[in-house]
Amino acid sequence: MAMEAEAAPLRAALGAVSIESPSWAASLPVRLAVAPASGDRPEVVLAVNGTDPATGVDCIGSTAAALSTHVALGLGPADIVITAGTAGGWQRADAAIGDVYVAWPHIACHDRRIELPGFDRFGRGEIPTADLRDLAGELGCRLGIVTTGDSLDESTTDRERILASGAEVKEMEAAAVAWVAQLHGTPVTGVKAITDLVDSPVATATQFTENLAAAAESLQATMVNLIDRLGDQ
Ligand code: SAH
Repeated sequence: MAMEAEAAPLRAALGAVSIESPSWAASLPVRLAVAPASGDRPEVVLAVNGTDPATGVDCIGSTAAALSTHVALGLGPADIVITAGTAGGWQRADAAIGDVYVAWPHIACHDRRIELPGFDRFGRGEIPTADLRDLAGELGCRLGIVTTGDSLDESTTDRERILASGAEVKEMEAAAVAWVAQLHGTPVTGVKAITDLVDSPVATATQFTENLAAAAESLQATMVNLIDRLGDQ
């Protein structure tokens, strides 16, 4: 997860306890916590990007997300990686604030534009997601392509590329998390709660701030159910 405000309700709901990073990662901002297995619930490692030492804000975005995922997977093998957080949706796709999406059928990037043979596909960075369609339906989640870029706004170029990609969920970390999970040979899924509607006349930052706490709560509730159901399976 990227932001402390997104992660705090889930950490509390899981009763996850902070652990030290391994010594090779001690200087990285990632914050790790572990909730032990109990009943149907499998062990959960919660990795949050942490605070940027230079600016004092949460390390949102793909660079820190890749580091956190690598540190978490370095602790030992995992059955699945879940990139969880908030995201933008679109009125044109019938999204509403508070909707929770499960990433399907892939996660990709919209702001890595490399018009060179082979590198264009590398730039798009499309990674297939675990097939959790049935589970998503049972949990009342929507399904959609998640698209990642390192900016909160949507430039005109982003808009064109996102429209062409068919993506319904816009955020800043999932493709980086998915790439590292794939390098480790670990299946990946994304769970994203909508804080803002990109095609609304209200500024994204205003919507985000207004809806962050409520979205983090719906994210937490869905994540706990999803984790328990995954444990069942
Ligand atoms: N000003 C905010 C920063 C939020 S950045 C603050 O400091 O409180 C947005 C974060 O939420 C990122 O981690 C991203 O993954 C997610 N996000 C939510 N809505 C988004 C959108 N419309 N576009 C991109 N990322 C979004």
